[in-house]
Amino acid sequence: MMGALPNNRHEAFCLEYMKDRAGGAAYRRAGYNTKSNDVAAAAASRLLINVKSGVPQRIAEFEAEYATKIGFEIEDALNKYLSILNADPATLTSLMRGACRYCQGTNHDFQWRTSREYADAVKKYDTAGQVAQIMMLEPSDLGGYGYRASQSPHPDCPECDGFGIARAHFAGTDNIPEASRPLFAGVKETQHGIEVKMHDQMAALDALAKHIGFFAKDHTCDLDTSDALTELLAGMIQKSSKMPVNSRSRQASNAANAPRS
Ligand SMILES: [Zn+2]
Repeated sequence: MMGALPNNRHEAFCLEYMKDRAGGAAYRRAGYNTKSNDVAAAAASRLLINVKSGVPQRIAEFEAEYATKIGFEIEDALNKYLSILNADPATLTSLMRGACRYCQGTNHDFQWRTSREYADAVKKYDTAGQVAQIMMLEPSDLGGYGYRASQSPHPDCPECDGFGIARAHFAGTDNIPEASRPLFAGVKETQHGIEVKMHDQMAALDALAKHIGFFAKDHTCDLDTSDALTELLAGMIQKSSKMPVNSRSRQASNAANAPRS
């Protein structure tokens, strides 16, 4: 145990840094006067690697102490991040494209779901009154019945050009694969529909990359990290364009308020 640093400000900096790992802010809270946040951040970065000051050793000591206290090792954190990174967001929410009403209708006419749906539309038209009818299209069942949103779009559909209609799909929590569960951060019902929350994969990637010293100037690893992890991360960074880029959580709303088709 090295104990408190002889320089009070260095000791204060270490304590502040452990609160939120925000170097610049910790530097200022420790009592240093700096002109700007950038200057504070730069000074903090220097202090964090200044072995002579004892700051890096003191922080390592705090980390070890905290880890023992809460029984949570750095490896646990890395594994948690890795499991978030390995999860596939598409298993939680996805974009589905299904037939429009004209895709599978006979001669690409409007296809009804059921005869009841057609009868309802006819009734609505018949009771609308002459003035309203001018603005309406008289229902016809030439396109037939049996529409399902899950049908494939027809490549020759004159209405949607084969693109169909995009719909957000949300996996039921029972159906989320085990490997994707770490990504799932809950569901919220909002006035605009359902939000599926996910943990931030880019933040996890960032944390892991920082841990292995990926962003260090000399590109050497600063900690004993396995080759497998380094390799995995390199691959992940290459694929990172596929990952959600929003900070905090990726959210998606369902089509509850979109017109039913
Ligand atoms: Zn279509």
